[in-house]
Amino acid sequence: MGLAFPKPKKRSSLKRAKHMRKTTRIAAVRSAVMNRDQRCRLCLERGPLHMHEVIFRSAGRSLEDTYSLMNCLALCDKCHAKVHAREIRLSFEDESIGCNGEIVVTPNESRFAMDRISEALKSSLDRKGWRD
Ligand SMILES: [Zn+2]
Repeated sequence: MGLAFPKPKKRSSLKRAKHMRKTTRIAAVRSAVMNRDQRCRLCLERGPLHMHEVIFRSAGRSLEDTYSLMNCLALCDKCHAKVHAREIRLSFEDESIGCNGEIVVTPNESRFAMDRISEALKSSLDRKGWRD
């Protein structure tokens, strides 16, 4: 008979390394994003701030592309909730990232569309001097 509460299995060292790589990356980028933005990028509220990933990792991006200064921005509680509720859509096409634009990236979009969007995002951030 097995134990009622079996000991949880230890993470394999490979999994642990992967987990560490992820949490370390996220923490580093979060601190850089907060340092850069200081305020909510939409309403300029000072906080508390969340880090929002413009294109989610579930859209097929790598860890490094997802958690990068280029793809992340600081949003306050309220704006972050609105973005996730799709009341606000982040746009890469018009001048202002974080305004009512039309592009919503879904996991179904083609790789080509993703590349195009990320180019548009890059140039938008370049114009704003947000890239490192
Ligand atoms: Zn806000």
